[in-house]
Amino acid sequence: MKSEYRPDTIVTHAGRDPAAHHGAVSVPVYRASTILLPTLEMLDNKESLRLRYGRRGTPTTHALEDAICALENSDRALLAPSGVMAISVVLMSYAEPGAHVLVTDSAYGPTRKFCESVLRKMGVTTTYYDPAAGEDIEALIRPETRLIWMESPGSQTFEIQDVATIARVARSRGIVTVIDNTWSGGYFFKPLDHGVDISIQAGTKYISGHSDLMLGTIACRASEYERLRETYLRFGVCIGSDDAYLALRGLRTLAVRMRQHHVAGLEVAQWLQQQDEVVQVLHPGLPDNPYHNLWKNYFGGASGLFGFIIRETDRKRLARMFDGFSLFGMGSSWGGFESLMTPSNPSVYRTVTSWVPNGQTVRIHVGLEDPRDLIAEIRAGFDRLG
Ligand SMILES: *Cc1c(COP(=O)(O)O)cnc(C)c1O
Repeated sequence: MKSEYRPDTIVTHAGRDPAAHHGAVSVPVYRASTILLPTLEMLDNKESLRLRYGRRGTPTTHALEDAICALENSDRALLAPSGVMAISVVLMSYAEPGAHVLVTDSAYGPTRKFCESVLRKMGVTTTYYDPAAGEDIEALIRPETRLIWMESPGSQTFEIQDVATIARVARSRGIVTVIDNTWSGGYFFKPLDHGVDISIQAGTKYISGHSDLMLGTIACRASEYERLRETYLRFGVCIGSDDAYLALRGLRTLAVRMRQHHVAGLEVAQWLQQQDEVVQVLHPGLPDNPYHNLWKNYFGGASGLFGFIIRETDRKRLARMFDGFSLFGMGSSWGGFESLMTPSNPSVYRTVTSWVPNGQTVRIHVGLEDPRDLIAEIRAGFDRLG
């Protein structure tokens, strides 16, 4: 559903209803399993009630659902306890013996693993496709293809996909399209505006923004909602109200955080490009990046996550560089206020396209620190490489 407001206004207000909560600006945490219904008539008609049992949502989780719809311009939203659970609910919803799914070769590792384990056991075949595919994705479609999975940019290698073209081809063949929209936080990119049917996010990342919450979000068109909700209910997926509260709190500052990640990330990326130790920077916001035009087409900005490749070095020197950082932490996830840096090896995820870096790949998340401090720390880290 398209809002009349602009994105910054949406994230500030979406899901709020002070009048329904004694004037409280933020929707309070409702901890509830049993919801008492005052009349037998209501009990008899409970199917039509939005508020009826904790697993089916509380005012706090409903507020977050509404906010996700507003953020992603979707008709409906579902909330999961992790990004991976959002991914598996979607994939399970279209899985049946004999079905076929197309997944970008740049997809997040656990997305691939779900296809190779659970989907395979169910008799679903997965074909991986080149993230650079556009119109030509049509050649990979089979009569039994049910779903096309995108991730743009790939969260390890940062290729931007031609999302609208793939969505158009899929729709003409009656195939559902899904995208992992975690990188943009839903702020810089609105996949449903470009014809995609379902946009999932690891809300763990930018929506939370503070590295203290696990969350998955599924934003979808009304046409897909009942099917997704059926899987969701059968598995008993739900999130706690405390987590929904934290996510709403994170969402209120999403716009200012994303703009800062964009500015600081580009500043660090541009600086990296000029360093002798760096052979390549994988940031779609750089004008000489091969995906720059596609990125400009689809995205209103770049988040803080990107990659770069440094000259081949041994593990001992690499350890000297990484172990000596104080601002850059090493750890899974990203999207919080803090900077992270880890060596990565994206080649291991590839099956139909090869990804051969000319050195050691590094993944960096530029947080909300002053980029000049981050740059000084990377410079000192490069010096430790020797
Ligand atoms: C982290 C991540 C996920 C999974 O999210 P969790 O909350 O950790 O389960 C999914 N997709 C992408 C692109 C991610 O980076």
